[in-house]
Amino acid sequence: MNRNTITLQDRAGASHRVVYDPHASTLCWSSGDPVDLAKIGMAPQVRDRDWQHAVAINGVHAPGRKSRAIRRLKIQLGLKCNYGCSYCLQRFQPEAGSGAPDQVEAFLRNLPLWFDGGEDGKGAGVRFEFWGGEPFAYWKTLKPLGSAIKATYPNASFAIVTNGSLITPEIVEWLDALGATVGISHDGPGQSARGPDPLDNRLQRRHLLALYDRLLPQGRVSFNVVLTDTNHDLRAIADWFAAKLDRRALSLTVEGVVIPYHAEGHECSLGGDERQAAFMRSILHAVAAGEGLAFQAVRRKLDDFFQSLATARPAHALGQKCGMDRDDTIAVTLDGKVITCQNVSAAGTAPNGASHEIGNVEALDAVRLASARHWSHREECRNCPVLQLCKGSCMYLEGRDRQQACDNEFAWNLGLFAAALFLLTDMVPVQIDGPMRHPPAESAAA
Ligand code: SF4
Ligand code: SF4
Repeated sequence: MNRNTITLQDRAGASHRVVYDPHASTLCWSSGDPVDLAKIGMAPQVRDRDWQHAVAINGVHAPGRKSRAIRRLKIQLGLKCNYGCSYCLQRFQPEAGSGAPDQVEAFLRNLPLWFDGGEDGKGAGVRFEFWGGEPFAYWKTLKPLGSAIKATYPNASFAIVTNGSLITPEIVEWLDALGATVGISHDGPGQSARGPDPLDNRLQRRHLLALYDRLLPQGRVSFNVVLTDTNHDLRAIADWFAAKLDRRALSLTVEGVVIPYHAEGHECSLGGDERQAAFMRSILHAVAAGEGLAFQAVRRKLDDFFQSLATARPAHALGQKCGMDRDDTIAVTLDGKVITCQNVSAAGTAPNGASHEIGNVEALDAVRLASARHWSHREECRNCPVLQLCKGSCMYLEGRDRQQACDNEFAWNLGLFAAALFLLTDMVPVQIDGPMRHPPAESAAA
C-alpha cells in the first residue's frame, strides 16, 4: 500500500484529510471522492491509457542502452569554464581533453552514421544541446559546429546554458540565427556562490542585455537560478532580477535545488530538518502568493503534477529526473565518447565504480550505461510521497552525497507538492502520514 494521508487546514483552522497514492496518482478526500481538478482548470482525462514501463536501469546488472533514434543530443565541448561556481559538479571532474576546433570536421562527418536525423531526417523532433564547462569558452569550436548542424538539420531545436560573461555582439547574432534557446545561469541575490556578476560589469552587462532583449520577445531566453540553503526565497529572487534588469519583463526559471557532488555542494545544502522545513515553507508561500509562479520550472513542475493526477500516471511510467537513462537521450564528446551525462568527464568514475565513459558513437549498440540506477531500485524513492515531482534526483549519486541530494530534493519538491495541494483545495497541508522516504523527515509539516 503506497498511500499517504495528508492533513489539510482550511482558513478557519478546521482539519480535513486527503489520501494520495504517488504510485497510482490518485488524490481523494477521506470520503473517497476524488479531489476536483476543475479549480486549476483541468478535467480528468483518459485514465485507461496503456502506459509504457520506464526502463529501470540498475548499474552493471541492468545497464541502459542508447539508440540511433536520438531525440535529445547533448554535445559536451569540454569542462573548461571561466567561473568556479561553488557547488558546480563539473569543477572536480578530470579534464578529458575534448572540444578542439580540429575535431569538428570528423564529428560532423560521422554524425549521420550514428544518428538517424530525427523524424524527417532534417532534425524534426530533435533537440541539440551544446554544453561546457562554459560553452562560449569553446567559441572557435562551437561556431562552426553549431552552424553546420543547423544547416544539415534545420528542423531541429537548439539549446545552450551559459554563465553569460563571454557574450559578444557576434554571439548574439549567431544565437539568434541558430534559433537557440539560451539559459543564463545566474543566482540573482545569491550570485556570489557562482562568482562575479556579469550584470555588474559594464561591457558584459551591455552584451548580455542585448542578448536578453533580442531573445525575450521570442520566448528563447531565461535567467536560471539554482536554489540553495541561503538563496531560495523566490519572491526575493524575482524582486532582485526586476530591479537589476531595470524593470524589464522577467523570464526566470529554476535549474533545480543544489545537489551536493563534493564538499562545497554540501555547504550550500539544506542541513537538518529545520532548514529543510524553512525551505519547503518558503516555496509554498511564494507559490501561494503568486510570485513563485513567475518561475517557468515552478509552473512546469506543478503542471506536470496536475497532469499526473488528471491522467492517473502510474509511477512505473516514470523515468529518471534528467532523462539521461532514456535510450533516445545521449551525451557525447566531440571525439565520439558516450558519457553518463553532459556534466561528467569521460575520464571520471561514478560512485558505483563504473566508468562515466559508457561507450563510443562508432559502436552505439555496445554502449552500456552502468554508472547509474533508476529510482525504482532505491527504497527511499519507492516510499516517497513526492516521487511524481522529484523522479529520483540524480541517477548516479550514492552514499552521503546521495542522501543529502535526497534531503534537498525532498524539501524542494515537498514545497511544490504542498503548493499544488493549496492550489487545488485552498487549504494548507500540515501533516503527512504513511510511507515516507528515509530518513523520516519532520519536514513533512508545513
Ligand atoms: S525526494 Fe529523495 S526519496 Fe523522494 S523521489 Fe527524490 S530522491 Fe527519491
Ligand atoms: S545524471 Fe542527470 S541529474 Fe545527475 S548530474 Fe547528470 S544530468 Fe545531472
